[in-house]
Amino acid sequence: MTEQSGRIVKGIGGFFYVSCGHVLYECRARGVLRKEKVKPLVGDYVKIAVTDPEKQTGSVEEVLPRRNVLIRPETANVDQALVVFACTSPEPNFVLLDRFLISLKSQEVSCLLLWNKKDLVSAEEAKRLCGIYEWAGVGVRCISAKSPEDVEALRRELHGKTTILAGPSGVGKSTLLNALCSEAAMETGEISRKLGRGKHTTRHAEIFTIDEESFLCDTPGFTALELPELEAGEVSEFYPEMTEHAGKCRFQPCSHTHEPGCAVQALVGDGGIRRERYASYCTIYQEQKERRKY
Ligand code: GDP
Ligand code: ZN
Repeated sequence: MTEQSGRIVKGIGGFFYVSCGHVLYECRARGVLRKEKVKPLVGDYVKIAVTDPEKQTGSVEEVLPRRNVLIRPETANVDQALVVFACTSPEPNFVLLDRFLISLKSQEVSCLLLWNKKDLVSAEEAKRLCGIYEWAGVGVRCISAKSPEDVEALRRELHGKTTILAGPSGVGKSTLLNALCSEAAMETGEISRKLGRGKHTTRHAEIFTIDEESFLCDTPGFTALELPELEAGEVSEFYPEMTEHAGKCRFQPCSHTHEPGCAVQALVGDGGIRRERYASYCTIYQEQKERRKY
């Protein structure tokens, strides 16, 4: 029995698909892992024992030490997130966008916000959208997934990292994935051949290869509809442009939603806190406050 090292690129129905160089092995977790309550995750680096080299099957023997673990979406060894939204069609939803950022940042993942479909809006509109996140503590880029030059520039930013792809449907995530990972279609094909037709449509995370050192993790089941356990008072921590001024509010602590003498509210608009960001803060603050009642 030969041993191999690889990375789990997908997990479905008790099977783990482990990429070892150019071979994809279908593996079960070894009993000892279950006994030790180690649950292998997509993104894990593992050691496998090959049971049948021809059928490319094996068993996961050992999970190597993890750099980090995300709960939403359940993945390991992720370096950063690419949060994709469209400049238009669909129209940006800032509450949803900020929920994605809060969910990821609360798990200590750095985020790059990508405004896609810039070819569909004016240069002024693209600039306005980027400007909303100017002080939000995230990197911001604006591209068209249909422009090869833009895709190449993005490819350079993702180099050497494992990046998880997040964002609502229709914004261009699949288009980007196919443009960046030439083998995306092929790999999906291989997994679906092993599993039987159609089963790859499950909403599970899957890792695709950009190049030998760079990976993109597609996360179709990650909607950010539900945020991690978060007190309403903690929501503002994800709005650095607001916390910067919170010390000057008359009341401490201040929710920045209704209190008189609130320094944050005074700055909404032209004063350094964007209207869209403040509105989404108020919505998410209220949501978290109501959630606490149940
Ligand atoms: P997903 O649901 O996020 O995976 O989005 P898709 O990749 O399926 O894209 C949704 C639609 O937007 C498709 O019709 C794409 O061809 C289109 N699309 C994606 N990126 C761009 C872009 O940069 N510009 C334009 N005009 N259309 C795009
Ligand atoms: Zn305040």
